[in-house]
Amino acid sequence: MKRTSTTQYLLRFDDICPTMNWRVWAEIETVLVQRQFKPLLAVVPDNRDPGLQVDSPAGDFWDRVRAWQDRGWTIALHGFQHRYVTRSAGMVAVRKKSEFAGLPAEVQREKLRRGLEIFERERITSRVWIAPGDSFDAATVALLPEFGIRVISAGYFRYPYVCPRRMTWVPQQLYYFRPAPAGVWTVCYHHNQWGASQPRTFREDVDQYGANVVSLDTVLDRGAPPECKWSAWLCTRPRISRFLIRSELKLWSWKGAGRRRLHCADANAVQLLR
Ligand SMILES: [Zn+2]
Repeated sequence: MKRTSTTQYLLRFDDICPTMNWRVWAEIETVLVQRQFKPLLAVVPDNRDPGLQVDSPAGDFWDRVRAWQDRGWTIALHGFQHRYVTRSAGMVAVRKKSEFAGLPAEVQREKLRRGLEIFERERITSRVWIAPGDSFDAATVALLPEFGIRVISAGYFRYPYVCPRRMTWVPQQLYYFRPAPAGVWTVCYHHNQWGASQPRTFREDVDQYGANVVSLDTVLDRGAPPECKWSAWLCTRPRISRFLIRSELKLWSWKGAGRRRLHCADANAVQLLR
């Protein structure tokens, strides 16, 4: 895979379920459709998490999911019931709570099977995994290919890569748009918690960064990303990798600010010469 030499942003929305915050979602969806973005939607097959019960259930939920799928939006499997049952962080998360990590493989397999059974019944196809709380372990990664899932959205690094298990990892590093160097930057939103002003901020950010928003297919169509042992090592050390990516972003912004200051100084010098 050729690495992109530009800054690309992927949009990801988590906790899509029948009882999500539909009022806010309507505003988001309008922007997504207007801008013809193809976001990544983390859909919970059978939500049982009271924290995601924000609105009354949409009776036509799966019709809506199929409509998004038909638009070319990527539907990702977001666990099974979104219930945290273990106190394990797993491979890439920092917080210790999970629906999957720490459970025996056969229990995890059954959850994946039941989740995808619902997707299949509703004619949803998915090849992308987004774990609730980003928490899953090596057993989960080993099981996903059994279900046709080959892509994981998780991890603090700059470019997608293929791990030794032949899974493609697409990093997820941001929770709002911000300037970033060349790379693939996934901006993950949890709109169920949004306040009244956030849809407007989202719209403004999209005006600013929209030209660099791409779809997952665009990222993956570049071909198989290189297998990278360094990324694999780093990916499973979330505290280190998160620290590194944040430092990299800060340093990059600082250098950019430095360049801008220099530019202003040049402009001042020109003024003085006049
Ligand atoms: Zn979630």
